[in-house]
Amino acid sequence: MKSTGIVTGIVSNLVTIDFTGHVAENEICYIDLNGVKLMAEVIKVNGNHAFVQVYESTRGLKIGNTVEFEGHMLEVTLGPGLLSSIYDGLQNNLTTMEGVYLKRGEYTPALDLGKEWDFTPMAKAGDKVQASDWLGEVKEGWLPHKIMVPFSFKGNFKVKSIVPAGTYKASDKIAVLTNEKGDDREVSMIQKWPVKVAVGGYVEKPRPSRVLETGVRTIDTLNPIAEGGTGFIPGPFGCGKTVLQHAIAQHSDAEIIVMAACGERANEVVEIFTEFPQLIDSHTGRKLMERTTIVCNTSNMPVAAREASVYTAMTICEYYRQMGMKVLLLADSTSRWAQALREMSNRMEELPGADAFPVDLSAIISNFYARAGIVTLHNGKSGSITFIGTVSPAGGNLKEPVTESTKKAARCFYALSQSRADKKRYPSVDPVDSYSKYLEYPEVCEYLDTKVDKEWTEKVNHAKTIIRRGKEIYEQINILGDDGVPISYHEMYWKSELIDFVILQQDAFDPIDSTTPMERQEYMLSLVLEVCDKKYDFKTFEECSSKFKEIINLMRQMNYSEFKGEDFNKFQAQLYKMIGNE
Ligand code: ADP
Ligand code: MG
Repeated sequence: MKSTGIVTGIVSNLVTIDFTGHVAENEICYIDLNGVKLMAEVIKVNGNHAFVQVYESTRGLKIGNTVEFEGHMLEVTLGPGLLSSIYDGLQNNLTTMEGVYLKRGEYTPALDLGKEWDFTPMAKAGDKVQASDWLGEVKEGWLPHKIMVPFSFKGNFKVKSIVPAGTYKASDKIAVLTNEKGDDREVSMIQKWPVKVAVGGYVEKPRPSRVLETGVRTIDTLNPIAEGGTGFIPGPFGCGKTVLQHAIAQHSDAEIIVMAACGERANEVVEIFTEFPQLIDSHTGRKLMERTTIVCNTSNMPVAAREASVYTAMTICEYYRQMGMKVLLLADSTSRWAQALREMSNRMEELPGADAFPVDLSAIISNFYARAGIVTLHNGKSGSITFIGTVSPAGGNLKEPVTESTKKAARCFYALSQSRADKKRYPSVDPVDSYSKYLEYPEVCEYLDTKVDKEWTEKVNHAKTIIRRGKEIYEQINILGDDGVPISYHEMYWKSELIDFVILQQDAFDPIDSTTPMERQEYMLSLVLEVCDKKYDFKTFEECSSKFKEIINLMRQMNYSEFKGEDFNKFQAQLYKMIGNE
């Protein structure tokens, strides 16, 4: 029996309901508005009063309208067909629609239950299994997609029967499992899971020890992110957050990409709709969309739907992680999500925290970031979710609550700088303020020193020292003038400019420069440091600057030419001549 109720009060999307029966926090209910069913989530229960957030416009809603409670939380539908899809926060499928907007009370199915898939069993009758174990596989596009024991199945099961290899509809029964009490449960390719509950079903979650290559030099070379790690990109409007995230999506060595697009305005989401499907996967040459799911929402969608979207995206990531995949979750921008939390908390008249955000903002953000990670599955394989979110602090103020809370939760910090963006030094990641705490993990350093170069971390620290010194000297020259500092200072400043122009700056729109494999990053950093470590004997600072300008020009041309191709080698020979190293 479902619990029912009637509407007793309405403040915008916050509706109070008197109910009979049992109602739980976060439970889903439907409010009847002249036959249109408006979906809502219970956010507070007090006696027989429930406070619910409606996921839709409440225009026309009246006291006395009836409500039906569903008895479960907001769930996401999981199964083959998630990839290439574009969803809103409630997993309405927007792919097939003309625009971003659904009619009120209209919900589109997340997956096509009638679609047929070629299934190959991996388990056999008699096998002992538990939640999230692999029963079989289908091909989702060209990617293997595991059909698993539903995450909600508690305890141990025995496979009673499983269908032979063949073509089946997503909703067809593919296996029957028997639990310890002897009850049979049927399994199809589709399962559901509440978005706000982290998916378990793994043996351990060790701390990250490998690096996820992004192809972006300022990240991989200076401050790498670990596979299963977390990072965030704060930056004012127009500094390049979205371009940087798209570059990472396109070139990183993750297998599955989930984009949570929390738009500032509707047109940004429309951009995602039109631009993202055009992106080409630099690893396969296919459309990136074939291994991507997009979950998007805009500021004009109701607050609860916006709040839900990042959880929906994370749950989809966890689903693929349980298949042993390397998943990358990108959220742009998480500030919109925090604003949704603020709107909800304010309407509830909760005691506000800093800047009127909820008092537990930090805990909410930390709990969300904690769902990233690398896990060891029951079968010994590993799966991971690497999470990178952007934050758009108002006026670029990094002391505001969302940035501060995120800084505590994420282990990599890629601060975009307005002044670098103004100078068109893209990506505008500030090399001095940014950091990766993974470089403090001995296992990550060891990984880098064995996989990249045996002196890699040393080289990187050397480069960072030059960058830092260069910045200090730049400020001194600004005050004291060119003649106010020794020539050796000019030399150091130009060495830092060399690193900036050749390593840090990267053209996201050039077919070659847009992504740099680790082997090439190792080569270029070593080459740049070789130039830096040479003894020069400049007599004037003009002599120093003109020499380095020449070198920078040449090395930038190397960045735009094919690695170790004819042009590249020619430039390199020229470079060696230039620095007297023949
Ligand atoms: P944000 O998301 O922070 O508001 P965008 O990512 O939309 O900013 O970037 C704004 C503009 O900056 C882009 O349209 C592009 O012209 C320029 N830009 C940003 N990053 C790069 C880059 N790596 N290479 C070239 N241009 C860039
Ligand atoms: Mg943007």
